Amino acid sequence: MKKVLILGGGFAGVDVAGYLSKANYNVTLVSDRDYFYIYPTSIWVPTREVTFKDVCVDLKELQAAHGFNLVVDGVTTIEAKENRVTLSSGKIIDDYDYLVVAIGAQKMKHPGIENTLSICAVPEQSMQIAETLDKLIAKGSGKIAFGFGGNPKDTSAVRGGPGFELMFNVHNLLKKKGVRKNFELTFFAPMAQPGARMGDQALAMMDKMFSRQELKRRFGKKIKRFEEDGVIFEDDSKLESDFTMFIPAGAGHEVVTNSDLPTSEAGFVSINDFCEVTIDDEISNVYAIGDTAALEGPDWRAKQGHVAEVMAKNVAFNIQERDKNSNERKGYQEHLNILCVMDTGDGAGFVFRDDKRAFMFPMPIVGHLMKKGWGWYCRNTKLGKFPRLPGM
Ligand SMILES: Cc1cc2nc3c(=O)[nH]c(=O)nc-3n(C[C@H](O)[C@H](O)[C@H](O)COP(=O)(O)OP(=O)(O)OC[C@H]3O[C@@H](n4cnc5c(N)ncnc54)[C@H](O)[C@@H]3O)c2cc1C
Repeated sequence: MKKVLILGGGFAGVDVAGYLSKANYNVTLVSDRDYFYIYPTSIWVPTREVTFKDVCVDLKELQAAHGFNLVVDGVTTIEAKENRVTLSSGKIIDDYDYLVVAIGAQKMKHPGIENTLSICAVPEQSMQIAETLDKLIAKGSGKIAFGFGGNPKDTSAVRGGPGFELMFNVHNLLKKKGVRKNFELTFFAPMAQPGARMGDQALAMMDKMFSRQELKRRFGKKIKRFEEDGVIFEDDSKLESDFTMFIPAGAGHEVVTNSDLPTSEAGFVSINDFCEVTIDDEISNVYAIGDTAALEGPDWRAKQGHVAEVMAKNVAFNIQERDKNSNERKGYQEHLNILCVMDTGDGAGFVFRDDKRAFMFPMPIVGHLMKKGWGWYCRNTKLGKFPRLPGM
């Protein structure tokens, strides 16, 4: 039985572990968290529409469902050429046939970042945001800033959607509590048109929402630093805020950048269409999938959960074909698209973009319920309780 070592227990790692266990590989998954985190529905933790537990799936439950070996430990070193991985506990794993790197991304570092909280950082920050919002609501008034940053070396690592979703949800929460008029909500981003990669129609819809909900904007100015009471921009202007929620763009994971794996300029693992990693001019026994991998493709490409899942499925297929000495392989690039249900607190917008089309259509009320339903679907299909629907 061939051994596969998978690093990371997110969308990418959990899926490839499931597929390869089913195909009778001896799979070991290493994760520094003991749970799989459903990021897309974590946007409701800060507004207390769901609990933190609701968006976590215990990795032990996933292990029981799929039969892989689980090691809860941090990866500190990858020495691909030596076929060796070292963990925080000092444990060394060097007897694998294939290595799948799926440890996600790290965040760009901005001066004063400690004055912000992020919905896209370590999961626990979602609860800290909830506590901060509770305090502001108890105080009765305030200024809240929501924003995201860019990575000039890799636009696919920029993540703005959850920032918009959280702001719309906070707007609705404040409205429900009857205190919306006492709060100033502002969205900020260094780009002139944040969200532009979703297409013109999406931008026009968001524009209307900003006006209707009296949301302020501060677009097109580079961020200099964060302070306790606001954001300072390149021209030294200041956006005052009692609380700043900021999503830094993704950057290469330091375990990857410190390893002997080939990386892109931004520090993501360089892969080919089949998620294979070339070392010393040869296709190695290493694969990289999900947010940790460098995506190739159109300018609007984005690191997303469904792309991570496609890569996981392909790698499981590609490893099996390789072991059969077949040349058949599956690539991820033909599946690159932007697909998301962007929650607006009381509804949602269905966003789609590929090479041919870019559209967003509104789904009042039902969209919000659909996204909630997807959270339930995600948990239960990952646990193997229901079959997956194609493409979801
Ligand atoms: C708030 C939010 C909302 C989102 N909404 C959507 C959406 O609606 N649709 C969509 O398609 N995508 C969405 N995304 C993007 C999606 O969640 C990511 O693309 C996806 O999580 C990537 O999966 P991954 O497995 O590559 O990385 P991750 O999910 O980040 O998983 C990485 C795993 O590696 C582990 N790890 C990290 N470092 C180490 C280490 N040193 N040692 C051991 N383990 C380690 C982590 O604990 C984690 O288990 C959203 C993201 C966020 C943050």
